[in-house]
Parts: sequence; C-alpha cells; structure tokens
Amino acid sequence: MTVCVNISLWLAVIMMIGGCMRCDSSAKLSGEARTISGERVDKFEDIEIIRYNVPGFESLSLNEKLMIYYMAQASMAGRDILYDQHYKYNLMIKKVLETIYKEYSGDRTSEDFKKLEIYLKKVWFHNGIHDYKTEMKFVPSVSFEYFSSVVKSIDDTVWLKVTGRDGGELLSVLRPAIFDEAVDTKRVNKAQGQDLIQTSSVNFYQGNLTQKEVENFYSQKRKQNPGKKTVWGLNSTLIKYQNGKIEEEAWSVGGKYSREISKIVYWLEKAREVAPDNQKEIIEHLINYYRSGNLEEFDKYNIAWVGQTGLGIDFINGFIETYSDPLSYKGSWESVIQLRDKEGSKRTQILVDNVQWFEDNSPTDLQFKKEKAQGISASVINIVALGGDSYPTSPLGINLPNAEWIREEYGSKSVTLANIHDAYDAASGGTVGKEFYLTQEERDLVAKYGSLSNQVHTDMHECLGHASGKLLPGVRQDALGNYHSTMEEARADLFALYYLMDPKTVELGIIPNLDVGKTKYIVYINAALLTMLNSVPLGEDLEEDHFRNRMMIARWVYEKGASGKVIEQVKKDGKTYYRINDFVKLRSLFGELLAEVQRIKSTGDYEGAKNLVETYGVKIDPEIHKEVIDRFKTLDVPKMRGFVNPRYTLKKDEAGNIIDVLIDFDQGYVDQMMECSDLYSGVIQ
Ligand SMILES: [Zn+2]
Repeated sequence: MTVCVNISLWLAVIMMIGGCMRCDSSAKLSGEARTISGERVDKFEDIEIIRYNVPGFESLSLNEKLMIYYMAQASMAGRDILYDQHYKYNLMIKKVLETIYKEYSGDRTSEDFKKLEIYLKKVWFHNGIHDYKTEMKFVPSVSFEYFSSVVKSIDDTVWLKVTGRDGGELLSVLRPAIFDEAVDTKRVNKAQGQDLIQTSSVNFYQGNLTQKEVENFYSQKRKQNPGKKTVWGLNSTLIKYQNGKIEEEAWSVGGKYSREISKIVYWLEKAREVAPDNQKEIIEHLINYYRSGNLEEFDKYNIAWVGQTGLGIDFINGFIETYSDPLSYKGSWESVIQLRDKEGSKRTQILVDNVQWFEDNSPTDLQFKKEKAQGISASVINIVALGGDSYPTSPLGINLPNAEWIREEYGSKSVTLANIHDAYDAASGGTVGKEFYLTQEERDLVAKYGSLSNQVHTDMHECLGHASGKLLPGVRQDALGNYHSTMEEARADLFALYYLMDPKTVELGIIPNLDVGKTKYIVYINAALLTMLNSVPLGEDLEEDHFRNRMMIARWVYEKGASGKVIEQVKKDGKTYYRINDFVKLRSLFGELLAEVQRIKSTGDYEGAKNLVETYGVKIDPEIHKEVIDRFKTLDVPKMRGFVNPRYTLKKDEAGNIIDVLIDFDQGYVDQMMECSDLYSGVIQ
C-alpha cells in the first residue's frame, strides 16, 4: 500500500508547482558545474525524463557502496518480469523494437523511423504497450506496412537468434498485438458487471480462466490453510489446462521467471555478504522465498524487514503492489533501493519527539485535543536506484508491507523520497513559477526554499496532522460521511500550515527560518487558486478530495481576510495573480479554520462539514479556470515524468580487487534502457 502515492504522483506536476528552480540539496558534483536534480534527459510527446541526485553517496563506506551496486544489479535483473506480467506479448514487442533500433540500416532520419523510436520510448516508459495511468493500449503512429518493411529489411537469422521466430512469423503475431486497437485494449479492467479476468489483458491468468474460477480457486486455498494469515496468490501465474485442471505456477527459481529470478538471487547473495549483520537475515529470507516460491517465507522476510527501522541502506525487492491485477491477488515485480537521509530523518524524529507540544499548542479547543499524542513514525530517504514497477516513474512516498496482519502485529515502514521530491520540484518549478508568481521576490523564495518547504509540510501533515485531535465520546469515525476525507486532509494540511510559520518550528531546528513557512504559503495559495486547476477539465467541478480540501482552505482564508487584503487578487496585463500581503495574519486565519475543522470532526457535525466543503471547495470560477488552462498551453510542461537511474560502476586495482564504486549521471534514457536489455534480456521464449 503505497499510501497517498498515486495521488501524490498525480499531483506532483501540479501541486509542487512553484517548486524551486534549482534546489539547495541538489549539490554540485565533483568538478562538474552542473545541477543534476531535475535535469532533463529526454522529452517525447507529453513525457519528460529527468535525473535525480544521490546526496551522501560519496561518503559511504566501500561495503555500503557495494551493497548499492549489487542491489542495483538485482534491480535490473528483474526488469523483464514486469513486462511479461503486464501483457503476454510485451517482451516480444520490446525485443523486436530494440532489435530494429540496433540493426536497421535504412533511413534512420525519416519521420516514420522517428515515430517508431518514440513508440519504443513509450513502451519503455509504460513497461509495455498499455498506458500505465489510463490502462489503455496505445499504438504507434506509423502504418503496419512501414513497420513490416522495416522488419523484413533485417535478416531472418537475426530474428531467429533473438526471438526464435523468422520475420514473417513475428509480423503475424505482432500485427494485431501492436496495431489493432480492438485487440487487448485494456490492461486492467475494473468496471463493475464485466468478467474482470476475461476483459483484462494482464498476463497473470492463462487458459481462458473466468473471474468466478479464479475467485473460487483462492477461496478454496484459504479453506485448505485454516489458521494461516498468509495472503495467497501474490507470486504465481494461475493456469487452466486443457483437461480443466487449474494450478498455480510459482514465480521462483525453477518455476516461472526462473532465468530472471536466478539472477536476482545471484546479486542478493553478493549483497548479503557485504550487508551489516542486522540486514543479513532479511536478505536471507528473501533469497529463501525466491528459491522456494513459498509465501510464508515472504511473510518472514516482511516481518524481519519491518523490524529494522534505522538502516542506512534499505530496499524493496519482490512482488509488491497488486494494482495491476483486477482482482488484486498478483504482485507486480518491483525494486527500490534507498539511502537514509540523516538530516531529513532527524527532522521527522524531532517532530515525533515533540508531538505533545504541537498538540497542546494548536489553536483547537481543549476538549478536542489528545491527552497523549503519538506521532506516526516515518523517515526521509533518498533513492539510489529504481526498478520494475517503480521505474522509470517513481512514487513520492512508500508505506509497506501490504499484508494487513503484518501491519497490525508488527507495524509498517513509511518513507518520504526526498531526492525524488527535489527532482520533480526542480523540473517543474521555474517555468510555472515565472508564469504564475507576480514578483521576483516570490520566485526567489520559491527557488530557494520550495523543495524544503514542501517536504516539511508533508512531514508535518503525516506525522502530526493526521495523528492529532480526538473524537468526543459517542461520535462515530464515519460521521462526516462523504465529506470525511476532504475534512481529514484539510485538518492535516492546516496543522502543517499553522506550524510552518511558528517560531517554535525554527527553535526546534526543523526549518532554518520563517521564510520557509512563507514559501509554503505562497506555493499553497497559488496552487490552490490557480495552477492546480490546469488538471481539471474546463466546466467541471472539483471532485477529488485533495483538490477540494485545498480549494476550500484557500478560498476560506481569502474571503475571511478580504477586508484587510491579507491575500490580494492582482490583475496585470490581463493575467490573474494572488499576492500574500500579511503572512502573520494569514497564519492566524489558518489557525481559525483549523479550530473549526477540528470542532466539526470531533463533534461529527455533518452539516458543518457539508457547508464548508460545498461553499468553498467544489466550484471553480469559470473565467479563472479558462485563463489558467490557456496560460499553461503556452508553457513547456509535460503531463508525465520519469527518471533515469545514476550509473554505478566498479573500480578495480591492478590485481583485480574492487577498490571503489563510482557513480555518474551521464547516461541517456535510450542508452540506459538498451544497456539494461543487453545485460539482462535473453531470447524470447
Ligand atoms: Zn493526508
């Protein structure tokens, strides 16, 4: 359960708007006068590929660097699994396109060839031929005839070598798979009333299984294992054979994906050798699980993993999220390797240590406060390598494991991905800020503190905001009904906004000065009143809870502070801007609204919630909405962003001993994708 992640990802382009042009933490690398974080590597259609920086890598010990190197190799080794999970012809399609890219000796500068190249880049980006957001198949913008001529221009011996089929055979399989939009149109179908297995083209189920058969199979499995809490089905393909028999084929060494998993295990074993003692056991469990395919081993791994919270280097590797299965049994393969951000994690620790002070001093009524507040523990990390389901698009925060029973009995680990935040901010900030912030002073503040202020806001929102306050006796948790989520998010946001301008936050060392708080106010108000509207279709109301909560807060404080011009609407050259004139007064308005939202929640005042949300959080001024969309059209802002990983290489002495692991940020998108395929993709079966 990557809690809040999908929404964050989706909001990333919009909400962090105003993020800094170039962030403090994107340190310059030795000898290079170049900023890594957010640097554009490639752009095609509405997709941009950028880099993230890895602060702290250089000062790691050799063993720590080696651990990262080995885990990064394991991360690449599993990549093909995800393609195959997503669709049965994905690997063949990828292989054919990559082979064309390498071998084609015709005109490589023609429009058609460039279009084919873009199609390949998109297949890499989405890990297959379906759009990862919409789940819909996308087709190349060249004709089948052109594609066919390109395939035929390459010798059959090449095709036989890489795919086991000649060009003619390939074309007959690929024509419907690539070019016919009516074939395997949707990767995951979740529409009620249809057979979700039959109408989804993911490759978790084979042999024409029906939804009913799959559901029966797993309810039987649970009955056959009474008293066991393991979540069955996560790591296998379910197959119905000719004779009607239904069986699982586990994804393990010796099972399905044996080639890829054996390589993952090879690298995990190397990582285990250099891992600190308290991590060796975790890796051991993971290896046992990959070898046996036994999910009870995976439970042991998760329990061990969740028990180690202070690790310098931590990782996720396995079949994790189940969003790609319409019935949520099957895990998509994923790998994330992370380095603890010591400074950032100190910050979250200070919040957790002082949670009672924040609770006691919040502007809410005494009767709604928690007597014994407990923060949600979380840490801040930097990504060192992304793989599988998290690559090339990355989450911004992760909370695992997913097994509910392990969460309840052993807890969970929650992380904020600081360098990914930075990179998004750096990539999106400049252009949008220039268009939507009125003054250079505002732009400068956002350039300097945008990323930090967003991160501290997220920390406070998660660690303090959601954990604060209490319900009066007899008030049910669901009393606010359909307004619950909007009000809950508003409460957490307001808690963070209120304390971001509190001198105590500086005194505790969470932020260096109140300019950080001011920056967040500028970013928040402008996102809510202007820039976030770009992602809402013209003429529509706000539906999504996070959008509603932000609009509600911004419009409420705008209206309440109108007489004193706390926030002022300014028109200049036909464009609308919002300028904050009085930050101190704005803070007290946030406090007032926080007290009211907490009262509504604590007393279960449904009418109060309805009134606030419907009055301030649903409607959009149609003229401003249109203006924002028009202004965005003039900007070069992509709809989706992905990342390339840094490249890690071993440095050896003359005797062949490894003496260092080097990191560089020079690899392009195509080079990285091709290199990974060259190293870890075999002949298509
Ligand atoms: Zn939240």
